[in-house]
Amino acid sequence: MGNCAIVGINWGDEGKGRMVDLLTQDYDVVVRYQGGGNAGHTVVNELGKFALHLLPSGIFRKGVINILGNGVAMDCENLWIEMQEVMSQGVPLTPENLMISDRASLLLPWHRDLDSLEEARLADKKYGSTKQGIAPFYSDKYQKKTVMAGELLYPEYLKAHLADILEWKNLTLDRVYGAKTYTIDEVMAWIDDFGAKIRPYVCDTGAVLRKAQAEGKSILFEAQLGALRDLDYGIYPYTTSSNTLACFAPVGSGLPSARIDEVVGVVKAYSSCVGEGPFPCEWFGPEAEKLREAGGEYGAKTGRPRRVGPIDIVATRYGVQMQAATNIALTKLDVLSYMDKIPVCVRYDIDGQLTDEFPFPTLQNKAKPVIEYLDGWQCDISKITEWDKLPEAARRYVEYVEQAIGCHIGYVSVGPERDSIILR
Ligand code: GDP
Repeated sequence: MGNCAIVGINWGDEGKGRMVDLLTQDYDVVVRYQGGGNAGHTVVNELGKFALHLLPSGIFRKGVINILGNGVAMDCENLWIEMQEVMSQGVPLTPENLMISDRASLLLPWHRDLDSLEEARLADKKYGSTKQGIAPFYSDKYQKKTVMAGELLYPEYLKAHLADILEWKNLTLDRVYGAKTYTIDEVMAWIDDFGAKIRPYVCDTGAVLRKAQAEGKSILFEAQLGALRDLDYGIYPYTTSSNTLACFAPVGSGLPSARIDEVVGVVKAYSSCVGEGPFPCEWFGPEAEKLREAGGEYGAKTGRPRRVGPIDIVATRYGVQMQAATNIALTKLDVLSYMDKIPVCVRYDIDGQLTDEFPFPTLQNKAKPVIEYLDGWQCDISKITEWDKLPEAARRYVEYVEQAIGCHIGYVSVGPERDSIILR
């Protein structure tokens, strides 16, 4: 078994969590390589239903090492809350099955403040941030104005380093936004509360990964959000502030020498999107409401109703190419069972010009979907686990999408539970 990355092909919320949960049985190590607690994976298994935000989805499997890599926005406060929730549901989290990279930078309390302050300043031009501090965090990381988790192991150095950063950060809080500033005592109290909780889990995870690689162990790389939210290749500026693409997995995980043998791209059988930004296939009114209800499309982190619409072949094909996906998991096919005809966005119309290519971000708001319809199946498929048992119309829909996006669909998911899956 080689290494594998599980990534989103669209705007996020494709069902990556359920795929990682399913596939972790085949891997020794699961690593999250980017993002923070600003999105969520929902995992349903025999232990219960879990909304994971930062924890890798391999924590439910015995013997699997779970790593939060250096590319992650290490929000110790939210991680600790999440760890307590998961542990209270009977999942053990120890320094043996959960490890935090000493090179992961810490998301600090003012990152969250600045996220809210800037969204408030933008008012009706806001980006639709989840206000978890992710954009201010990554900007500070690239400005070298945050601290690394490993510094928790060197408290005197950490305090001096934080005091230097604080002197600079208070200028922004005070002079730009007129907001509350911090004292070093407040920051150290926060470190004592939350940094101390995660300190036992911090180690040189790069060394752990190199050892695993040398021993021939298999590694699963787990991403947050999807290709269209990638900072460099997505719907900028409505992207996230890190790189969600599989090619960034080696860098953000702590194993730059990793070879990724398989990229499983997760695609939802229809489109959904949280927050602002162009979303050409968006439905409104009762049609949208029905699909949103059928798919339970409310944000795992925020509870916000997600924007929904039919599958977007143009965006999905682009996502498959950007992720260099080698295999696709098509999720939530069961949600479409109520439709008599299944709409598919096959191309865009931009100012009267038809195009199959995903446009430059500035043009995306002008893109109007060209919709074609496939037959629906109108029966419950959620208990089906064999391809041949799927109604013919459902098989035709999967085959149509597969041909249109140019990548094999190896998994068809028909329910949130671990076993509600058809292997092809
Ligand atoms: P992620 O961030 O990509 O992991 O996606 P989310 O967890 O935010 O959203 C996926 C949602 O769909 C979760 O509530 C899952 O339990 C659920 N889900 C995943 N696969 C399926 C499926 O095939 N059918 C149905 N009905 N629900 C699914």
